[in-house]
Amino acid sequence: MTASVLSTMWGYAQHRSKDREAGGMLIGHHPLETEDIVLDCLTTPQPQDRRSRHQFHRDQAAHQELLDLQWILSGKKRTYVGEWHTHPEDDPHPSSLDLSSWKKAIKHTAFHGPGLLFIIVGRRTTRLWYGTARRKTFSLIYEWPTGEHYDPQEDANLRQPAHHGQSRTRANRKE
Ligand SMILES: [Zn+2]
Repeated sequence: MTASVLSTMWGYAQHRSKDREAGGMLIGHHPLETEDIVLDCLTTPQPQDRRSRHQFHRDQAAHQELLDLQWILSGKKRTYVGEWHTHPEDDPHPSSLDLSSWKKAIKHTAFHGPGLLFIIVGRRTTRLWYGTARRKTFSLIYEWPTGEHYDPQEDANLRQPAHHGQSRTRANRKE
């Protein structure tokens, strides 16, 4: 996880009542073909997205185009590693709609390794969940105070989200 990814997301935190939800794709790479995830890039809201106070629906084509660009620019290293969005609540919890779209992402997207990362930026905390194809639940694996000084040294463990008891089964053979 890099500081710029967090600070970019925090710039969209819904502190004012007129702020709409924001979100995008999480983009990263897997060092030396391992299943570790280094989250170092993201997509931000595009004009084609549907956004309201309590909903964010990202436009697949617009974000895919940005992902494809990162893939090329990084020499085919950077790939899709998950999703992020904001919530107008202090400590964010995934809605039932979030859970079903996260399940859909795991089921219908091709990705490297056993699982995907899902971040929700709340007004007070930002939370990170990890979901795998094998387990049907999402585990909360990390939490930051939204917008505060961030020291990437403190959570170097984030490079290895697959080591939190989840299966190491590879799940990259998706339609
Ligand atoms: Zn949500």
